[in-house]
Amino acid sequence: MGDSGSAAGRRPHIFSAEGESALAELLTRRALLAFDFDGTLAPIVAQPAQARLSQAVAARLAALAERLPVAVISGRSLADLRRRLGFSPTYLVGNHGAEHADDPEAASAWRAALDPLRAHLERERQSLVAAGVGIEDKGLSIALHHRLAPSEGAALAAIDAALAERPPGSSVFAGKRVINLVPTGCPDKADALFLLVARSGAETALFAGDDVNDEPVFERAPAHWLTLRVGRDAASRAHFYLDSPAEMAMLLERMRQHLAMSGASGPGSRR
Ligand SMILES: [Mg+2]
Repeated sequence: MGDSGSAAGRRPHIFSAEGESALAELLTRRALLAFDFDGTLAPIVAQPAQARLSQAVAARLAALAERLPVAVISGRSLADLRRRLGFSPTYLVGNHGAEHADDPEAASAWRAALDPLRAHLERERQSLVAAGVGIEDKGLSIALHHRLAPSEGAALAAIDAALAERPPGSSVFAGKRVINLVPTGCPDKADALFLLVARSGAETALFAGDDVNDEPVFERAPAHWLTLRVGRDAASRAHFYLDSPAEMAMLLERMRQHLAMSGASGPGSRR
């Protein structure tokens, strides 16, 4: 359930007094710092192939990763993600939570679960491509991109038609100008984050995301986690928001400052 009152109507900006004190409180504990990639750490760009971390964000994440475990949890495949980061996170998770860098075996069963859908989409390829829909097979998920379609309506209609008769075993959810298909029952970002919190021994977590596939984390996060939605979505269940990824470097810098302060007075400090 989570704490109901603050979530819906008046979500504070993370740089408000309330946000700053939540951030300071979080960083007195050993926290896992987890981030979505597109639209969160990196700005959304017209050509997804161009998305990269800015140097300012990559450098600050690298510095934070020396103090605390840092995770990037994205809808992209791991192979795709790795070349866009410019730093080495402690944990890297792709395909909406299903693809863990350190557990490739779990991935192959989920990959095979999409084979009937793969074959089906191959038969529908011509009508999808004609409507300007790009089909991206990411192994553990399949993305139907309509960002570049001349008519969004026609593209969505073609996708609806193509998916209407699809074989069982896949679940559909929308993202920003994309329709995603994942194996039914496959781990999502919330599952991935709970796993990483346990694996890292963290006492708490921060998670920032901007899209539909980040909401399961916001919904399932324990009350002491700090959750953050990039963009002002009234329906989001995150506790705080940022206006855009352009504010991310500043947020990471604030985290570094809070850590420096808590480190100076904490039990682990050198005197
Ligand atoms: Mg995103």
